[in-house]
Amino acid sequence: MVKLIRTTNELISCRDQEKERIGFVPTMGNLHAGHISLLEKALRDNDVVYFSIFVNPKQFGPSDDFQKYPRTLEDDLELIQKCNSNFEGKKIVVFAPEKPQEVFPLNYSQTVAVPTFNNIVEGRFRLNHFDGVATVVYRLFEIVKPHNAYFGLKDYQQFLVIRQMVKDLAMPIEIIGMPIIRETTGLALSSRNQYLSTEQKQEALNLYQSLLKISNFIDGKKAKLAMAKKEINTILLDAKWNYLEMRDAETMSEDLTKSSRITLVAVYQLGSTRLLDNLQLEVK
Ligand code: AMP
Repeated sequence: MVKLIRTTNELISCRDQEKERIGFVPTMGNLHAGHISLLEKALRDNDVVYFSIFVNPKQFGPSDDFQKYPRTLEDDLELIQKCNSNFEGKKIVVFAPEKPQEVFPLNYSQTVAVPTFNNIVEGRFRLNHFDGVATVVYRLFEIVKPHNAYFGLKDYQQFLVIRQMVKDLAMPIEIIGMPIIRETTGLALSSRNQYLSTEQKQEALNLYQSLLKISNFIDGKKAKLAMAKKEINTILLDAKWNYLEMRDAETMSEDLTKSSRITLVAVYQLGSTRLLDNLQLEVK
């Protein structure tokens, strides 16, 4: 069964009646198989799943695509319904606020900041973006009060921000990171892929292929990191990269001397579309 809720008051009273284990999947909608993989996992792990569809104004900068971000509620509901039919007897509550004030009432003045990750890597390119993400997720967690919450590792830094927030604020919520779902070509699924022309889609393959190339080069060996840096510098001669970096997978520090897991994080920009991707790898 799929229940659609459009107001926060209704959501709170629905939530108050739940007695079982609640999973939560926050999204901005325009759903694809990446989002649905989170929903499926949440359905497997929990008795009921709350699924939010909310384009969060607080995580968009002034020159970002907030207004033109695709809003496709009807199609989204169809995908959710289809997924639900494979999980008979489970309830999905879709929270799609009819207006932003449902989530952020007028004069709402709380901001949740996670300074550890705020101004590095992706944060350098998107001022206050991660504060906006932490603030909306905190607010949704307060309303939904889930036991488990599911996030894609596609947005790796976002995952770290949320995990840190929950730890700092001692919120009793398990944060589960889920693998990146890709097209067969390797391109990570993203709502923003639809902005790409056929030619750009071809060029976009460069992103994942470069990550794989570096990962293969490193081959789990810490001793190879210095040489990998040189490889990266050569790849970065292509001006379409916003960045391509090796960071510690837990702290996102540039210092990898003590790292046992590193992340390769990158943004490749085609026209005005910024494509994010990452890989995690163990090193010894
Ligand atoms: P968004 O709607 O873009 O805010 O994404 C909602 C959630 O879906 C986030 O936790 C994303 O990391 C996750 N997500 C987006 N794309 C993918 C993907 N290709 N594979 C796995 N998870 C994804």
